Amino acid sequence: MKWSFKIGSIFGIPIRIHITFLLLLFFVAINPHRGLLGGLVGVLFIVLVFIGVLLHELGHSLVARHFGAPVHDIILLPIGGVSRTEIPEDPKQEIMMAVAGPVVSLILALFFLLFSILLGYNLGFGHFLDAKAKILVELFYVNLMLAIFNLIPAFPMDGGRILRGILALSMDPVRATRIAVGIGQALAVIMFFVGIFFNWWLALIAIFLYFGAETEEQGTILRKVLHQVPVRALMLDKFEVLSPEDDLSRVLEVICHSAQSDFPVIENNQLVGIVSKEVIFQALRQLPSETKVRDIMIREFYQTEPDEPLDLALKHLVENKVGVVPVVEGGRLVGILTMDQLAKYQLICGARPQEKLSFIYSRQK
Ligand code: ZN
Repeated sequence: MKWSFKIGSIFGIPIRIHITFLLLLFFVAINPHRGLLGGLVGVLFIVLVFIGVLLHELGHSLVARHFGAPVHDIILLPIGGVSRTEIPEDPKQEIMMAVAGPVVSLILALFFLLFSILLGYNLGFGHFLDAKAKILVELFYVNLMLAIFNLIPAFPMDGGRILRGILALSMDPVRATRIAVGIGQALAVIMFFVGIFFNWWLALIAIFLYFGAETEEQGTILRKVLHQVPVRALMLDKFEVLSPEDDLSRVLEVICHSAQSDFPVIENNQLVGIVSKEVIFQALRQLPSETKVRDIMIREFYQTEPDEPLDLALKHLVENKVGVVPVVEGGRLVGILTMDQLAKYQLICGARPQEKLSFIYSRQK
């Protein structure tokens, strides 16, 4: 995520802080109504709240990792935390992963409640001690609210994921997602109107939820659909290749006369590299036309097989921005997968949603 930087890692999971979060701390610290001490107590409070948020997110991440789903990082934002984690395929695992966060928050709430009760009897004198007692009680409420609020079944919040997981136990995951998103958006609309009258903050969160649900829906459905489609169904099987000895003027010629702009590089019938449109255009701008493909090609790249599911290849295309994934069968290059093909596929799905699978499957036979 832009404007976030790493502050450390826990269990090998990078923890990042968004720059706006530091702004929040800064404004709490310099609040003129609180004075210096009040400002420091305010900062301490926010830091403790966000340690709670971090533990909540760690709950999700560690359970996800336990099930073998990769965890990328945890980002702390002023509105809360985000654990960037792959969602496990198995609905039971997804439910457990979603429940883990609120469970951590609930345990923290009980912990602070216990301490407030224990210490509450002894405190009550002096401004600073008073503030400390107040912090403990407030931390109890904040963590309790974190647990309860996240359990509202409004997808993509934790409660919505739990709902999706429960639905997916007995129906097609795409349908389960659609239903969970529908319920989530209905709740977001209700939250928005309640928020307008009682709390603007709630209204703002409702807007985020509504559109977040929509994005999640499209992403999830595309992933689930692509998971059922083999690479073979969408790969280009008639394609141009380059040789390491080709120079830039030859590359330019191929680009101008074909629809392709990302190429596999072949030497002695072996796949030795790839060049993407980005690499080629950068070379055309900066390097002389005698430059060989050998000097600009990417030598370490992801490759796939015809029967692998499309979602994995899509992930590599998007995350590594390579432009092309070679498809290899028995050591032989049989096709390539490009972003253009995937974009085209999305258009096909959009135009004929009822046929998306049968259309593709009919081709592979
Ligand atoms: Zn959560």
